Amino acid sequence: MLIGANWKMNPRTFSEAKELCRGVSGSEGVDVVLFPPAVYLRQLAEAFPHILFGVQNVYWESEGAFTGEMSLGMAREAGAHYVLAGHSERRQHFGETDEMVSKKVAAALAKGFSVILAVGEATKGDDKSIVIESLKRSTQNVAETDMTRLTVAYEPIWAISTSENHEDATPEYAQEMIHTLKQEVAVGYIYGGSVSIDNVAGFLQQPDIEGALVGGASLKKDEFNEIISVARSLKK
Ligand code: PEP
Repeated sequence: MLIGANWKMNPRTFSEAKELCRGVSGSEGVDVVLFPPAVYLRQLAEAFPHILFGVQNVYWESEGAFTGEMSLGMAREAGAHYVLAGHSERRQHFGETDEMVSKKVAAALAKGFSVILAVGEATKGDDKSIVIESLKRSTQNVAETDMTRLTVAYEPIWAISTSENHEDATPEYAQEMIHTLKQEVAVGYIYGGSVSIDNVAGFLQQPDIEGALVGGASLKKDEFNEIISVARSLKK
């Protein structure tokens, strides 16, 4: 079971970030990975060596004239073991294409990172083929031997808590979609989209869902720790 916490551009201060880390613990069949803003990473990784950390974004080149970007080597040195790639906010607000995402995914895996790749359709009712094709393009450069370190987070954009008029997806809907995707790209799958303490069990009980990517609820310390406890009780 894998529970990821995508903090996005939160919290506002480093001391709040430290506070969020305080109660977090993985183990007992549940890997918990926190994705803080990259500027907090090194200090958090040093202060909480038992926690797994990742970066929310990375660039595929190892150095050079790429203003504002961070290489995989820099991410590793700062304490990251995971890379989150292809999040819908990076695609929507920063113009990331499947081709760019595929370079990030392949480079991160080749450098030994574990990767959570996010895919999902923009609008409820969109054809499944949109997600299937995006997933295939986003994984096109991945070496077969690296696939074991790749997890796909199926995140319907319309179900993400900060999307306008967002609507919760049902666990059955997520299961059906993930089952379809798994036949196309055979890796582990987690679900993301307004996961909370109230609905997490329903998602994690689905046969093809092996964890959750949590946004908003990961910024609420008690709720996030309760989500981890539920995952632990249902571990696969
Ligand atoms: C996300 O954006 O990855 C996410 C899952 O957010 P939320 O849980 O807030 O919907």
